[in-house]
Amino acid sequence: KLNIKVEVKSNDEIGSLANAINHLSLELNNYRSNRSELLANISHELRTPISYLMGYAQVIKHGQYSNERELRIYSAIIEKESERLAKLIEELFELSKMEEGIINLYIQSVDIEDVIESAVQKVKLKAMKKNISLSLLLDSELPSIISDGLRLEQILLNLLENAINYTEKGSIIVEAKKEKTAILISVKDTGIGIPNEDLPFIFDRFHRVEKSRSRTNGGTGLGLAIVFELVKYLDGQITVESELGKGSKFEIKLPYKIKNCKGY
Ligand code: ADP
Repeated sequence: KLNIKVEVKSNDEIGSLANAINHLSLELNNYRSNRSELLANISHELRTPISYLMGYAQVIKHGQYSNERELRIYSAIIEKESERLAKLIEELFELSKMEEGIINLYIQSVDIEDVIESAVQKVKLKAMKKNISLSLLLDSELPSIISDGLRLEQILLNLLENAINYTEKGSIIVEAKKEKTAILISVKDTGIGIPNEDLPFIFDRFHRVEKSRSRTNGGTGLGLAIVFELVKYLDGQITVESELGKGSKFEIKLPYKIKNCKGY
C-alpha cells in the first residue's frame, strides 16, 4: 500500500502539486484494492466449475457409477461445467478489452426495429420452453440511429436472456419509444425481481442476488457488467427498476447519433 501524504502548505502551484500527488496516491490505492478483489473473485469463480470437472472426471475414471444413465448424467455435468468455464473466460476477456478501450465499434445507420426483432427471434425458443410470452411494443416509425447495431443487439440479448432466466411465469415486454434527443428501449419482465439493497450493485462484476439463482442457469455474473460497458460505448445510459416478487425493468437510453462518428 502506498502511503504518500504531502502536506499542502500553500495555494500556489506547489500547493496544487501536493494536492495532485495526494489525489493520485489515493487513486492508486483504490485501483490496487479493486484489482486484488477482482482477482480473488475470478479465482473463486474459476475454482467452482473446475472442482465439478475434477470430481466427476474422477468418478467416471474409477467407474463409480451403477449404470449407463448415471454415466450420461455425470458426463453431461462435465460438459455443462466446461461450457460455463469457456463462457466465463470469453466474457472476462471481453470485459478487459472493453475496459482497456480496445474494442472497435462498427458504426452505421441502425434500424432499431430490425435489431430488436433479431434479438427477440434468437431468444424466442428459450422463452417458449418456459411458457413465457414475449411481446413488442414499438413506437410507430422509429427513426434509424447512428450507432453500432451488433453491439446494441448484444445488449438486448443479455437483457432478454436475464429476463427469461429470472422469470418463472408471465411475460416479457420489449418497448421502444422515441424522445426528442434519444431513443428509449426497455425490457420488462414479471419475474422474481431484485431486492432494493442489491440494485446499486447489479452492474458490478460477479454481483449476484443469490449465488444459487444463477448457478442453475449457467450465469457467470458478468452479463450485466458487460451490458453496462457496452451501453457506455454507445454513449447511452442504463437504468433499472425492480420489485422483489413482481418483476424488473431495464431501460437503455441511446442518442440518435453516437458522439464519435466520423463520416456521418
Ligand atoms: P448472471 O450471469 O448471474 O445472470 P448478470 O450480470 O447478468 O449475471 O446479472 C447479475 C445478477 O442480477 C443475476 O445473478 C441476478 O441475480 C440479477 N438479475 C439480472 N437480471 C435480472 C432480472 N431480469 N430479474 C431478476 N434478477 C436479475
